[in-house]
Amino acid sequence: MKNYFVNQNAQENGDHEVHTSSCSYLPKSENLIPLGKHSNCFDAIKKSRQYFSQTNGCYFCCNACHTS
Ligand SMILES: [Zn+2]
Repeated sequence: MKNYFVNQNAQENGDHEVHTSSCSYLPKSENLIPLGKHSNCFDAIKKSRQYFSQTNGCYFCCNACHTS
């Protein structure tokens, strides 16, 4: 299980990125909304959609859930 977070600030394309707590590209903590622990990024993405309609997995830590 990993701890997941979503960036409350959108990227330029409107995506809110989902990260694990160990990601090197984790945004500042004040910009993070905790999504809780999940065994895979797909569940974390599902949870993130409760906050934002447009979310995407981080290329680096959630590559399986990243769509370009
Ligand atoms: Zn990441």
